[in-house]
Amino acid sequence: MVGCAAPFCNNSSTKGYTMKVFPRNTERRALWEKHVGKMNSTPTNNSYLCEVK
Ligand SMILES: [Zn+2]
Repeated sequence: MVGCAAPFCNNSSTKGYTMKVFPRNTERRALWEKHVGKMNSTPTNNSYLCEVK
């Protein structure tokens, strides 16, 4: 099962959400981190975010 890495977000692929893998590209990655804010944990190449903010 793939869960969202964003705090307070329990969405997952099993709930029908589109999950997007954290980009390896550092620029896009910085954007994601900014967008998500404080993460539950340090995002890895295996972290996912749902399509919902
Ligand atoms: Zn989410």
